[in-house]
Amino acid sequence: MKIIALGSPGVGKGTYATEIVQKYGMLHISTGQIFRENIKGGTELGLKAKGYIDAGKLVPDEVTIDLVKDRLGKDDCKNGGFLLDGFPRTIPQAEALSGFCEMDMVINFKADPEVIIQRLSGRRVCKKCGATFHAVNIKPKQEGICDACGGELYQRDDDKPEAIKQRLIVYEEQTAPLIGYYKEKGILKEITINEDFGNYKAEIMGRIFDLIENGTE
Ligand code: ADP
Ligand code: ZN
Repeated sequence: MKIIALGSPGVGKGTYATEIVQKYGMLHISTGQIFRENIKGGTELGLKAKGYIDAGKLVPDEVTIDLVKDRLGKDDCKNGGFLLDGFPRTIPQAEALSGFCEMDMVINFKADPEVIIQRLSGRRVCKKCGATFHAVNIKPKQEGICDACGGELYQRDDDKPEAIKQRLIVYEEQTAPLIGYYKEKGILKEITINEDFGNYKAEIMGRIFDLIENGTE
């Protein structure tokens, strides 16, 4: 199965994506995570992307499309299912994707605006493995330390208030139109999740799995 996870920054799609790929044995391909790894590693791609990301802007389409096309061309993607998290994020990206890969399902994750702001401002990410936690909603067992690998947790520069505002504007202008685009193609499913993942994980994931398997929650 090939799934696209859509949704505003801070909606929790990275968290849900991690659970979905575990359950169905799919690859998790997060463009944001690939960019962050490249920034950390000081690669050419990382250098290109860093300024845009820190300012809350999108990395240019050409750069992102090439990156994803390359990634989906690898053997592990040819032979198995995957979930795209953070791509496509613009109509040109979606059109380019349709030229090299046919997707089965698009899930649009939704949450109320207050919930989104709260999720973004509390997000903490593992420096080592990229796992995501939340200062209030999804606390790690030990403060500041990743449950999965023991790495140090930090707040992304683009999760600081000014960049958050900018990312939400960019989302409305450039990414939200994808909802209509995929609705028209007949492969869109939508789900609203306002509950806190730390306390309602089983219930939330149950609804998402039902949506994937039966088309309804
Ligand atoms: P979030 O979904 O919470 O905004 P991501 O980790 O998906 O965070 O992305 C972080 C940043 O990486 C984005 O704000 C953007 O600058 C860049 N980025 C990720 N995916 C794309 C993409 N498909 N096109 C352009 N820029 C992207
Ligand atoms: Zn970790």
